[in-house]
Amino acid sequence: GVNFKGLLKRNWLLIATVLSVLLGIALGVVVREYAYLTHLQKQYFGFLGEILMRMLKLVILPLIISSMITGVAALDSEVSGKIGLRAVIYYFSTTIIAVILGIILVMTIKPGVSQTAEHIDRAGTTPNVTTVDTLLDLIRNMFPENLVQACFQQYKTKRKELESPRPAGNTSTVPPPLTTTLSAVVENITKEYKIVGTYSDGINVLGLIVFCVAFGLVIGKMGEKGCILLEFFDALNEATMKLVQIIMCYMPVGILFLIAAKIIEVEDWEIFRKMGLYMVTVLSGLAIHAGICLPLIFFIIVRKNPYTFTLGMAQALVTALMISSSSATLPVTFRCAEENNRIDKRITRFVLPVGATINMDGTALYEAVAAIFIAQLNDYALDVGQIVTISITATVASIGAAGVPNAGLVTMVIVLTAVGLPASDVTLIVAVDWLLDRFRTMINVLGDAYGAGIVQKLSKRELERMDLMSDVDVANP
Ligand code: ASP
Repeated sequence: GVNFKGLLKRNWLLIATVLSVLLGIALGVVVREYAYLTHLQKQYFGFLGEILMRMLKLVILPLIISSMITGVAALDSEVSGKIGLRAVIYYFSTTIIAVILGIILVMTIKPGVSQTAEHIDRAGTTPNVTTVDTLLDLIRNMFPENLVQACFQQYKTKRKELESPRPAGNTSTVPPPLTTTLSAVVENITKEYKIVGTYSDGINVLGLIVFCVAFGLVIGKMGEKGCILLEFFDALNEATMKLVQIIMCYMPVGILFLIAAKIIEVEDWEIFRKMGLYMVTVLSGLAIHAGICLPLIFFIIVRKNPYTFTLGMAQALVTALMISSSSATLPVTFRCAEENNRIDKRITRFVLPVGATINMDGTALYEAVAAIFIAQLNDYALDVGQIVTISITATVASIGAAGVPNAGLVTMVIVLTAVGLPASDVTLIVAVDWLLDRFRTMINVLGDAYGAGIVQKLSKRELERMDLMSDVDVANP
């Protein structure tokens, strides 16, 4: 009927994206079954998908800079402080809820009890990263020493790399060098397991955010002169969002090839049977968090139908599922939140970029489940103190994880070392991470969006007061 046509018209992109996911899976399965592709051919196969990733990442930088600066400058410092505080409280409480949920599930389902670590092959070694190192790195990254460098370097650490001396000659038996930089750990895992592939953002987002908040605050206080800058960044933001709109039209094509190439590339499907219960635990935790916990909080505070809100975010959720990166999904998250869910730009500009970087409910839940799963595999009894330690470090690890593929797997190491489990046991769960990563990223993005909705509701009074004030301005210039 007429209604159906309208629905189709309004949601054509979402429908095309979902279809392309299905088509991509089918294409991947068919090629996998009936064609033998060499390594190089596999790479060519994913090319159109790679282009999508590149375009999405390309707009992250102008998007974050323009939205954060205008977001902060448009509010007065008192209001932005209040909004920031509300956002941080939301981030923390939902992350903790996710962690607790994960712990309850993994202790009930006990996915690791029936098997032992010996049954799942351990491979390679992973360098040690301690909680203190991660925290220091996190804080250090908040203060990039060079703004330009911050735009293309993800993790920077002052600590000297602890390279194990490499004997000359025979290199084949030498383990990978130990380093304390998280990015190096990512690289090691990447090299060993080829799971991160070509994706890596290379932007110190947290550092840029801190700079932009400070810059925005200063601009906001500068009066007339500041207006020029504010207008500039506002225009930059609008232009970037227009670009995003264009890129999104390409999305169905890119996604089709991304998922098809992934299916062709995966080597070990058998592992899914072995790790089935673990994956069920993580996935059901994510589902409960997204389907019950977050909606409940949203409903209590906002008093609107949370599932309509989730549907409004659908395009961003599918994107996150396909590209496993909160940062690269950010442009789409913005569009969905502003266009479909009508969240005030003054809120999204503020809450979404920060959320994409530090608010990761899915990752936190996953880290807690994975750590306890590994303890179960090792027959390692955890006392209450250790479980509390896991919940705290899982929270820290989720904050410290960048919004890039498999980041959570890397920061997992700090959770393990904190309770005395071997850090190298991360390798036990590596093989299925590409799949779990997608789902936890989806929940990370959903959590950010709900955060924007909730903070908007809580900040209604301030926003209305500001609207009144600007109306007065317009009336009597
Ligand atoms: N890929 C996730 C994200 O971008 C982070 C993680 O690995 O948990 O949100």
